[in-house]
Amino acid sequence: DVEQTTPISKPLVEIRHVSRRFGSVTALDDVSLTIAENEFFALLGPSGCGKTTLLRAIAGFERPDEGALVLGGQDLVSLPPHKRPLNLMFQSYALFPHMTVEGNVAYGLEQEKLPKNEIRRRVGEVLETVGLTAMARRRPHQLSGGQRQRVALARAVVKRPKLLLLDEPLSALDRKVRSQMQLELKRLQQEVGITFVVVTHDQEEAMSMADRLAVLANGRVQQVATPVETYRRPANLFVADFIGDSNRFAGRVVDGGLHVEGVGLLPGHPVGDVSGDAHLVVRPEETRLGPPEAGRMEGQVAEIQFFGGVSTVAVDVPGHADPVLCAISGVSTVERGATVSLDWTADAAV
Ligand code: ATP
Repeated sequence: DVEQTTPISKPLVEIRHVSRRFGSVTALDDVSLTIAENEFFALLGPSGCGKTTLLRAIAGFERPDEGALVLGGQDLVSLPPHKRPLNLMFQSYALFPHMTVEGNVAYGLEQEKLPKNEIRRRVGEVLETVGLTAMARRRPHQLSGGQRQRVALARAVVKRPKLLLLDEPLSALDRKVRSQMQLELKRLQQEVGITFVVVTHDQEEAMSMADRLAVLANGRVQQVATPVETYRRPANLFVADFIGDSNRFAGRVVDGGLHVEGVGLLPGHPVGDVSGDAHLVVRPEETRLGPPEAGRMEGQVAEIQFFGGVSTVAVDVPGHADPVLCAISGVSTVERGATVSLDWTADAAV
């Protein structure tokens, strides 16, 4: 089993050895993980890794071939989708176009035939939470993309499910609204106290919102951890590459260090088969530039990218396929074409 490094408080969802195959494709391959009560949890991975299939299995639109799904101690697999105490928000959060914002949010509660004054109170509260009180009488076409998104969220949380499943909830929004909505989604989750499980292929999005995340690849869980742990202590090379930028060196283990052909022995502990081929991964912000020095990795500055607060210097190292990236704060003082040395402390390697 994949290690779950962070201890969790009260488990809400337990996914145990779940597999799902479509013909020759194994969409989920023995997936086990536990999601805590009140947690903001992200399922992260590249296209086709199985994250939507897992979400659909929790929702009840997909039956696992093997394994168990438990919510609050109750077996889910035997429950039909509409009986599960959860709500699902899809990528295309179709609102009713002829209804007002208020009407859209009230709809689910009206279906449950709750008393009118209770519906009014709960809709009022949730519109307040998502900052749409002033828009209550508008129709969806009179709203911006971000506002429509908030209506969809209000509609999803107003029924107070134990669990809200969100499939790429922000993908329809442009970049700026998107990063604003990431903050809002996080705040909303804390305010309503509902467990959120968000599917995304965007690692920055998952990192910025989630308390913990599961990284999936080829239907298998690679790591379940906090964003910081996945970045600082990735469980394997896939996670190291997928989360954040990294410099990766391939070589052979010699005396507990990594020996790279044509470069020499690198500082830090390699990942992989300690007796043979292995890799060393160092983050760009841990990689330091200096004047050429005997015994250090050397290269030529190929490119400098300025991002405002930070600059990224790309260095071509002979014998190394990808340029080595070095992130420095502010404006770079080295120039393109300069010969530099690259160094990091032994404990900087992830
Ligand atoms: P994306 O980000 O592109 O939506 P994903 O990580 O959500 O990808 P899934 O949609 O879960 O991935 O799909 C996992 C694998 O299972 C893919 O190879 C996909 O083609 C396959 N798959 C999913 N649903 C079906 C289906 N109903 N029939 C056949 N194959 C399917």
